[in-house]
Amino acid sequence: MGRMAEKKQFVVIGLGRFGGSVCKELVKQGHEVLAIDTDEQKVNDYARFATHAVIANSTDEAALNSLGIRNFENVVVAIGDNIQASILTTLVLKEMGVKNVLVKAKNDYHHKVLEKIGADHIVHPENDMGRRVAQHLSDDKIIDFIELSEEYSIVELFATSKLAGKSLIDLNIRARFGVTILAVKKGEVINISPEPTYQITEEDLLIVIGHNQDIKRFEEQGM
Ligand code: ADP
Repeated sequence: MGRMAEKKQFVVIGLGRFGGSVCKELVKQGHEVLAIDTDEQKVNDYARFATHAVIANSTDEAALNSLGIRNFENVVVAIGDNIQASILTTLVLKEMGVKNVLVKAKNDYHHKVLEKIGADHIVHPENDMGRRVAQHLSDDKIIDFIELSEEYSIVELFATSKLAGKSLIDLNIRARFGVTILAVKKGEVINISPEPTYQITEEDLLIVIGHNQDIKRFEEQGM
């Protein structure tokens, strides 16, 4: 989003659709990215996005050493179909002492092995995206959401006419529904921890935190 993060150095291994978009977004956010792929065409395509783009095989420890990978704290392993290469790469990176290794997993078996060999973060982008799309499709009131755990989320909801003109104190949302309004957005202006006397208007975007069941109850009965 709009927040400017501290500049960091990343390595992205594998420039498929997932690794490629991770690489572009990190650069866009102001970070330095060393992009690696075995495929010369991919490396050429990403030369204009990444800070450096090189042809190398990440299962080759000597090649990673000569690129100075051990000096990077954050490495993303985005090798798609070749599970063996993904596992071997992760193993080499953890053995080298890379602190933060994020790996894209293809299936549960792959996930389990990655966990055992010390991957720090394991992601399943297709599954995660599928879940997000389904949530959006099944609930058109929710504009965006962040899953904090299996049970808790932060969601964005547009205030309805039912809430308009009422103050937070009148609505007593926390006591009635167990959810908390963290912030209220009016266009680009964000009001963090609004005062109890704050009066909601219909165009307000409410950023709400709570248990999923409580959020659902608030949406169904409170809005
Ligand atoms: P996605 O599903 O994200 O599009 P792909 O399988 O298409 O994933 O892309 C994976 C990328 O990883 C490919 O560009 C491939 O060339 C690259 N790759 C595969 N094995 C290695 C390896 N050992 N070292 C570096 N890059 C690799």
